[in-house]
Amino acid sequence: MASPDFTLSAGPVTVTARTLAALGKPILYHYDPEFLTAFERTQGKVAQVFRTTNDIVLMQGEAIVGLEGALRSLITPGMHVLNLVQGVFGKGTGYWITDFGAVLHEIEVGYDDAVSPAQVEAYLDLHPEIQMVCLVASETPSGTVTDVAAIGPLCRDRGILSYVDTVSGVLGMPWETDEWGLDLCVAGAQKCLGGPPGVALISVSQRAWDAMYANPAAPRDSYLSLIDWKEKWLGGRRFPYTPSVSDINGLESALDQALEEGVDAVVARHEDAAAVTRAGATAMGLTLWAKSETFASACVTSIRLPDDIDNVRVRDHAREVYGVMLSHGQGAGNLVRLSHMGPTAGGLYSIVGLAALGRTLVDLGMQLDVGAGLEQALAVLSTQRN
Ligand SMILES: *Cc1c(COP(=O)(O)O)cnc(C)c1O
Repeated sequence: MASPDFTLSAGPVTVTARTLAALGKPILYHYDPEFLTAFERTQGKVAQVFRTTNDIVLMQGEAIVGLEGALRSLITPGMHVLNLVQGVFGKGTGYWITDFGAVLHEIEVGYDDAVSPAQVEAYLDLHPEIQMVCLVASETPSGTVTDVAAIGPLCRDRGILSYVDTVSGVLGMPWETDEWGLDLCVAGAQKCLGGPPGVALISVSQRAWDAMYANPAAPRDSYLSLIDWKEKWLGGRRFPYTPSVSDINGLESALDQALEEGVDAVVARHEDAAAVTRAGATAMGLTLWAKSETFASACVTSIRLPDDIDNVRVRDHAREVYGVMLSHGQGAGNLVRLSHMGPTAGGLYSIVGLAALGRTLVDLGMQLDVGAGLEQALAVLSTQRN
């Protein structure tokens, strides 16, 4: 099968020509002074995007390596951890928490809903034994966000550690690591940043380092060890293992582009694209997955499908017939996702996604007014541009 004309998936995303060119640069020895400088510069640029003065660790591997390594490092057997579940990734975090030996507490809501700061506050009031809160900032498989701006400070003010999966959160929503007092954040390069899949971007507060050092179960001399990165790389300029030189080059280029545009402007571009997409989808007769637009994510719009139309079939049909790669529900429910993430957040990409999805669903038997949806989406886009 030919390559798709448009990749509008929820990560890995389409990357710019400039990022592709950076990925094609010569591969240097990882101890070449030029690469060492590039690696350090890239860390600094991640810190700018995260808005933090905390240490930045760039672990080689998809974001999962950072999420697992960090959680294993922070969980001391028997500690009490509160996990917030409103989607697939939050649910998975809970399995890890139990697996790594902690006592799991959970607040779980439907995957079309969001855990509220008030729920978290009430739970923490009742359970002073909680030592860490785990949350997912942006549940990409269902397109909902959590109110990290409120929950982060709640944890900090009580001296509770926070562990945040922000793989699709950073640049897809306003983000303030330090202002919100977030101890451990993990982002991916291949989501809103528009970089290559293959690097986990992690910020670690001093409190989080202290917790890891106090933890006899924290991995050391292991691919999953954050302490190795702290001691060998941050402390001694020795890599625990060879980083992918090309991925770092691609990541730095994507960071440059984000910083040149401005972090706030990138976030606003995602929010604008989401507004266009939601307006178009509802105007053609589709139903949004998120119960309320107040927590619908800015990087991906999830659409609820009728029971008799399967989400995988929708994704495959749009790809085969219209050459547009969308994302299915990834187990979150019978939904399909129009992604507006990284370089595809903005301009006519949302119109392409809406056209492909709308016509696919008509082909599969739904009654929709695709034209009315596209008209409405273009009307919203036009007001943003003029
Ligand atoms: C993409 C993503 C990850 C990384 O998981 P993969 O299954 O490797 O894509 C983790 N958390 C969230 C919220 C994500 O969007």
